[in-house]
Amino acid sequence: MEDFAAWRRFRGRPEAVETYRRLVQEKNDEIGAFISLDADKLKSLVSAEEKSSEERNGDGGSSQLNGVPFGVKDNIAVEGLPLTCGSKMLEHFTSPYDAGAIRRLADAGAVPVGKTNLDEFGMGSTTEESALGSTYNPWDRQRVPGGSSGGSAAAVAAGMVPFALGTDTGGSVRQPAAFCGVYGLKPTYGSVSRFGLVAYASSLEVIGVLAGSVDWAREVFTTMRGRDPLDQSSAEYPPSNASPADPGSQAGPAAPAGNGNFRVGVLSGDLGLSEPVQRVYEKSIENLSELGFEVESVDLPILDYAIPAYYTIATAEASANLARYAGVRYGYRSSSATDFQDTVRLSRNEAFGDEVKTRILLGTYVLRSGFQDQYYIKAQKIRTALKRTLDELFERVDLLYMPVYPVNAFPRGEEGLTPFQQKLADKFTATANMAGIPALSFPAGYDDGLPVGMQFMAPVFQEERLFAAASRYAETFPPRTCPGKLEWE
Ligand code: GLN
Repeated sequence: MEDFAAWRRFRGRPEAVETYRRLVQEKNDEIGAFISLDADKLKSLVSAEEKSSEERNGDGGSSQLNGVPFGVKDNIAVEGLPLTCGSKMLEHFTSPYDAGAIRRLADAGAVPVGKTNLDEFGMGSTTEESALGSTYNPWDRQRVPGGSSGGSAAAVAAGMVPFALGTDTGGSVRQPAAFCGVYGLKPTYGSVSRFGLVAYASSLEVIGVLAGSVDWAREVFTTMRGRDPLDQSSAEYPPSNASPADPGSQAGPAAPAGNGNFRVGVLSGDLGLSEPVQRVYEKSIENLSELGFEVESVDLPILDYAIPAYYTIATAEASANLARYAGVRYGYRSSSATDFQDTVRLSRNEAFGDEVKTRILLGTYVLRSGFQDQYYIKAQKIRTALKRTLDELFERVDLLYMPVYPVNAFPRGEEGLTPFQQKLADKFTATANMAGIPALSFPAGYDDGLPVGMQFMAPVFQEERLFAAASRYAETFPPRTCPGKLEWE
């Protein structure tokens, strides 16, 4: 279903509703990508007439997304559907409204058919931290799909939906995309409304797209981006940076030279990659040169500070954001509590998982009175320095290129990486969140039958450069199809 027309041809067929529901259910039993699939939405998807252009808020042209099903990470609100965040805390919570991004996609006619699994509140890199089910990597069920948007990545790789929404606070769209062999866009901070996204680390996170091709990712991003009065940190997308294909766009050619000859800064030195990832990384750099990209080595010693700073800021914000789950207004309430103090203490203790508790403790620690200078303020200084370093770098190069993660999809359970190793491994992805810049992870190569993802980063609001570069790569080095993928024709 990589091309937009294929889904419409499929849904035009009389038995399409039933076929779709059956196949998606069966596939979900196998890989556990969705925590909830909505029967009514599935039905309305194929039986409803396409919305007429007057019904949509768009420019009157027919959106490519009209009538298209999509998956939504279960920390993004869809009216009437569960909003669990993969947590026992919100296991029975239903959202009373739509997130800003969901509204825009729905206005274009796209249909959210279900909620995908995630690490609890987005904290993790495997989707194993979910309290509400297991998700398997569709390339190899013994391996993790990555995380925290692992359900969305698995759903797209397996062909259950042509795209799914994820959220990226420190890599949660790009890393599972890399593990599952799909595209993962982490947009510029503030370019997509966070209204209706359940907060983990507000200054770092953004709603992103997982998709089977660059075209889908671009279409979805273009549809959902832009200022939302309900999110004060959202920004109007500069019209001059829009895709040259957008109606009314003033965009020039995406590449400075107009011939796709991007200057690409490639991270050099010993990056501590596993052998398979190192091999694919080197080969992909050769591929870039072969495609005519002007490759230049860059050194970024400041990356060594990205992780301590990221985890200081992310946990500090998490400890504040998760204070609202007290067994009082939302979600789980302990049945053994007899007074207010106990309600708060026991509800939190019984309903949060270990990873969430660890982070609340860490965040509370770095923010405690008298110690902010040592941790939180220092981390903010590193963040500023990182941003400046990248700004300077982007005066010399159009794009920055680096791995997404030091290893590819690793085994589930004990044989995988420890939570501490997982955190250290976030250094390539968390960098883009700290700087607020956009990044796109794409399938750059394969090793032993498993996909390996790499990423491009660009200056703020330059998503179009990312799409252009990844498209050129895919033309010559096309991604492989995941074994067992559902096809809709
Ligand atoms: N693995 C990172 C973390 O656990 C990324 C999380 C995310 O982007 N939501 O914080």
